[in-house]
Amino acid sequence: MTDLTDNLSEQLEELKMLQHVDQELGATLDFDNVLMLTMDWALRRTGATAGIFVTFSEQENSLRALTALGYPMREVREKTWPLEQSIIGRAVRTRQVQHVTDLEADPEHCPEHALPETRSVIAVPIELRSKVTGVIWLEGEQRDTFAAPDISFVQRLAQRAAIALDHARLYREAARQADEMASLYTASRMISATLERPQVLATAAQALATTLGVSTVVIADYRKLQGEIELIHAYRLPTARLSMNIVPRVGSTFALESLPEVRYAIETQRSSGYSLHSRLLSDTLREFMTAHNVRALLIIPLATAPMTPNTPLIEVVGVALAMESRHERRFGEEERAMAEALGGQIASALRQARLYAEVRELEEIKSHMIRMASHDLRNPLGVAINYFEMFLESLGDQPFTEVQKRYIQSVRKAHQTMQTLIKDLLTLEKVESEREALWQEVDFTALVNAELEAQRNAALLKKHTLTAQLPSQSLHVRGSPAQLQRAVGNLIDNAIKYTPDGGLIQVRLTTKERRLIFEVQDNGYGISRERQERLFTSFYRAREPGTDHISGTGLGLSLVRTVVERHGGRVWVNSEAGIGSIFSFWLPLA
Ligand code: ADP
Repeated sequence: MTDLTDNLSEQLEELKMLQHVDQELGATLDFDNVLMLTMDWALRRTGATAGIFVTFSEQENSLRALTALGYPMREVREKTWPLEQSIIGRAVRTRQVQHVTDLEADPEHCPEHALPETRSVIAVPIELRSKVTGVIWLEGEQRDTFAAPDISFVQRLAQRAAIALDHARLYREAARQADEMASLYTASRMISATLERPQVLATAAQALATTLGVSTVVIADYRKLQGEIELIHAYRLPTARLSMNIVPRVGSTFALESLPEVRYAIETQRSSGYSLHSRLLSDTLREFMTAHNVRALLIIPLATAPMTPNTPLIEVVGVALAMESRHERRFGEEERAMAEALGGQIASALRQARLYAEVRELEEIKSHMIRMASHDLRNPLGVAINYFEMFLESLGDQPFTEVQKRYIQSVRKAHQTMQTLIKDLLTLEKVESEREALWQEVDFTALVNAELEAQRNAALLKKHTLTAQLPSQSLHVRGSPAQLQRAVGNLIDNAIKYTPDGGLIQVRLTTKERRLIFEVQDNGYGISRERQERLFTSFYRAREPGTDHISGTGLGLSLVRTVVERHGGRVWVNSEAGIGSIFSFWLPLA
């Protein structure tokens, strides 16, 4: 009866402990923590003096210690056991618990496999999905240290540990993948954040070096026609400065004929890793690696995806060489996939940079042409105007016929138009090329005031009433004073121009939220709705009825828009034909 009660209470005790084990193991996803907890429970329950958690790799056919209690850790870390000649090996081979009560007598026992005081041991296989993945090894100082209930407890513990370790491994794997994705994401954002080629190269090399954790990355340009590569950028991880690596010289070229490894990467668009000990290295690559003290190398193609579905060709713009000088290493499948993904990003960033440089070059040529044409036209035009006026003067008081007067008038008008056109072209071009570095804080209220004064005479000549509604305090914006003055001036000038004599022109400056709003209202010819859309494009003139006699170039409003948008604002118009217009823009306040 007491036996039965004892047995029951023992079983109850064991159940309680296992429940506890489940709770603790279930709560952690940390691999090392699971190992420690398992060994701790095993020792506490069985009264063993020492224990080792052994892992078994079927692939390598090896038994290694993962963690231990009761042993000096340094000793344990190096420990391995032969599968064929050890008690632990026997637990794996037979998939049965090994309980040895007389250690000395066991034929597979070897003295260095246990502590000197150990008399008895148990080796409990750990199985996951019907495969042995490890062994829990426990040592006792008495022959009867391990009783049957203890052994069955360790068996159950082993089952639970196997599952908990599997979860921890999966978690670790998922976390590592998330880390990889995050670093890949950061790297690719860094690479595509710039359009300047030198910067693309620098960030690309750095991103590859940090992602792969190699000491040096070199980027080479691929010259298809010449059949060679040229090293165009080299980066060494700052922490690898003390390593023995020698950074290759930028500017060196290599013929692909002598570098089959690089040719392979270019042709297949696949990366491949090489070690100095690889037997199949080409002489050139071996020489290169030896000369730069490289122990392992990954060749990564920089290949862009097709630009559009209609251009199916993949373009290989170069290769990157990830080089490790500090130690031997292999580049795993995942690392290579990551490197290839980054290689693709780098290739497109380089292609973007190239397109950008081409566009910029064209822009510069265009600006240069406009500048030259305008300058070159301005002088001969000035000469023509002067000689024409001198010629008229030389005719003395001779009266002109009505027809002659019309001719003279036409020539003068044409001269004026050409002069304004050239002036506007030059200003527009200047606005587009002026550097923002020269911008300053501008008192916009004062600027409007000055411009009103400058135009008062022109308004007076046409008998307009010019009123202004300005804030009492100064409103400041950041920008180019000259450009802003042209924008304000153009709107007031247009209102004066496109309003029949005796009109009313109102200039207003107000604020709303963090913006200033500038408006010019007139009661002039106005613009019909269908013509308003194109108003701000270069060379467009609305030509409303009654405005034929007004000369202009159609560049003024496009200049206003360019200036306002450059300063981070927007321009718009409200107008009705025959009633009048309100031209407005807003700018961010400084
Ligand atoms: P320009 O005055 O040299 O022709 P702009 O670019 O300044 O060139 O203006 C483009 C066109 O917009 C003008 O030709 C005119 O038809 C119309 N326009 C501009 N301002 C006004 C205005 N205040 N009232 C009516 N029409 C205007």
